[in-house]
Amino acid sequence: METSGNALLEAVEKTATLEPGAPAFRASDGSVTSYGELWTNVLDLAAGIGEHVAGKDPIIVLGRKDALTVAAMLACLASGHAYAPVDADLPVARVRDIAGQMPYPTLLSTCPVPKSLRTAIPACTMLDARSLTEGVIGVVPGRDAWVSGNETQYVIFTSGSTGRPKGIEVTADNVAAFMRWLVTFPVIRDGHRAFLDQAHYSFDLSEYELVGALATGGCLCAVEGAGDLDFAALFSTLATSGVEVWVSTPSFADLCLADPSFDERLLPRLGLFLFCGETLHHTTAEALRERFPQAIVANTYGPTESTVAVTYGEIGDAELADPAPLPVGLPRPGTELRIVDHETGEALPAGETGEILIYGDTVAKGYYENPERTAEAFFETRLSDGTPSRGYRTGDLGHLDAEGALHCEGRLDSLVKVSGYRIELTEVEGALEAIPGVEQAAVVPRESRGRTSSLSAYVVLDPAERSLVRDAEGGRADFELSRILRAELARTLPAYMVPRRVRVIDEMPLTANDKVDRRALASRG
Ligand code: AMP
Repeated sequence: METSGNALLEAVEKTATLEPGAPAFRASDGSVTSYGELWTNVLDLAAGIGEHVAGKDPIIVLGRKDALTVAAMLACLASGHAYAPVDADLPVARVRDIAGQMPYPTLLSTCPVPKSLRTAIPACTMLDARSLTEGVIGVVPGRDAWVSGNETQYVIFTSGSTGRPKGIEVTADNVAAFMRWLVTFPVIRDGHRAFLDQAHYSFDLSEYELVGALATGGCLCAVEGAGDLDFAALFSTLATSGVEVWVSTPSFADLCLADPSFDERLLPRLGLFLFCGETLHHTTAEALRERFPQAIVANTYGPTESTVAVTYGEIGDAELADPAPLPVGLPRPGTELRIVDHETGEALPAGETGEILIYGDTVAKGYYENPERTAEAFFETRLSDGTPSRGYRTGDLGHLDAEGALHCEGRLDSLVKVSGYRIELTEVEGALEAIPGVEQAAVVPRESRGRTSSLSAYVVLDPAERSLVRDAEGGRADFELSRILRAELARTLPAYMVPRRVRVIDEMPLTANDKVDRRALASRG
C-alpha cells in the first residue's frame, strides 16, 4: 500500500498538538522533553536545514542518545531529507567513509564535532543543531516538503563485505507499514508506551522504540549503550524509568540478568520484552519469565534491509519445553517468507532448511548509491495473491515449521553478530590487510554459550616485517604486535568490530582445496 505523507511525523505532530505536555523523551539523568518541546525543536531545525541545504540528499545526523538527536532526525524528514544516524563515538575514518559515499554530504551534529573530523571531510556542509535551535532562521517547511511514499526515510550504515560501510535505504512507506504492525503488539495496543531506548540510533534496532514510542504518543526512556555500561547508573535509571516495553538484543538482557536485582521489583510496569538481532536462547527466556512473571517474552527476526523486524513469536512453556533452538515467530501481515535452495532457487517445503527470502511492503529500496549490490540482493516479485512486491535475499538459513513459524539456522556467508552488532568478517580482514606490513589476515568468530562472543584475527606479516619480529623476543613481541595492530584497526573500525585477539602466525593454514582453513584457525585458541 503506497501512502502519502509521513506517518511518523504526523503521529508526533498530532501528540504535540493534542497533548503537548506528554513526555516524549526521558534522558538517563531523568530530565524529560515533552512532545511540545520536541516538535518545536523539529520545526526550528527543519527551517534551519531548509535555509542551508538544497536538494533532497540524506543528511548525516551525528550524535548520542538525547532528545536533540531525536529532533534532528525528525527535522531531516520534515525538510525533505533522509537521515543517516551516525554514532558520535565512531572513528573519524569511518565517518569520512560514510560521508565520502554521498555526492553532497551534509552533517548535522547534536554534539561537539572534533577538529580531526572537520578536517577529514572538508567538502561536507556542517550544521550545528544546538545553534540552529537558538535563533530560528528560515521558513518552516510545509507538509508537502516532508519525506513521503517511496522516498528514503533513513539510511543505516552497516558493516560491508567489500571493506566499506554499506548504507541501507529504508523508505517512508516501509516505516509506515512497520508502524501499522508494531502498534498492534500486545501491551503496546493496550496503551503501555514507555519504551526502553538502549540501542544507538545508528542501529536499526533503535527504530523499534523510536517508531513504537513516537507513533503511539509514548515515551523513549534512554539508557546508555552496552559499550560504556555503568551498571550502577543503568539500574538506577531503570528503577525510575517506568519502562513498559523492553527492546534490546538478547545479549544486553543477559548482561542485565547477571545482576540478581534485575527483576519485576526493579521494573514493575514491564509487560513486554521484544528481542531482535541475534539468537534468543532458552536460558535467557527462562530467566526472564522467572524474574518477570507478568511480562511477555517475544522473539522477533529481521534484517535492516526489511525494516527492523518481520516476524513475531511469544516464547511460552511449549516453546521452552522443546530443546530445539527457539522459533522467531510468524511473519507479520504484509510479509511472506519463502525458503529456497540457495544454489537452484527452488522453493523448499516446510521443515527443510534453505535461504530465507522476504517478500512484502517493508523490503527496503536497496543499498545507497550501489545499484549492483542492490540488484544482487533485492528483486521485484509478487505475493501469493498476485500483488506486486519487492523481495530480499537475506543470506540467512532457516526453515518454516508446520505452523508457518520461522526458525533461524545461521548464515550462508561470513556475516556474524557480536552482541547484536552486524559484522562482515571480510571487512575486518580487509581493514587488517590495509595495515602496512600485513600480508594476509583471517578473522574467525569465537563462540560462547551458543553465540559469537568475540572475534580472533590471525595475520601473516610481509617477509621483511617477519624478520623484524623474529629479532624481537618471543611472547612479549607477539603481545606488543597484537596491541599495535588492534590500535591500528581502532582508527578505522568501530570498537565492536575490533577483534579481541590478533595473533601473528607464520603461514595461513589451507584446506585441501587451498582455501583458508578457518576450522584449523578456530581450534588454535
Ligand atoms: P541487522 O540488519 O543488524 O538487524 O541484522 C540482521 C541479521 O541478524 C539477520 O539477517 C539475522 O542473521 C540476524 N537476526 C536477526 N534477528 C534474529 C533472531 N531473532 N534470531 C537469530 N538471528 C537473528
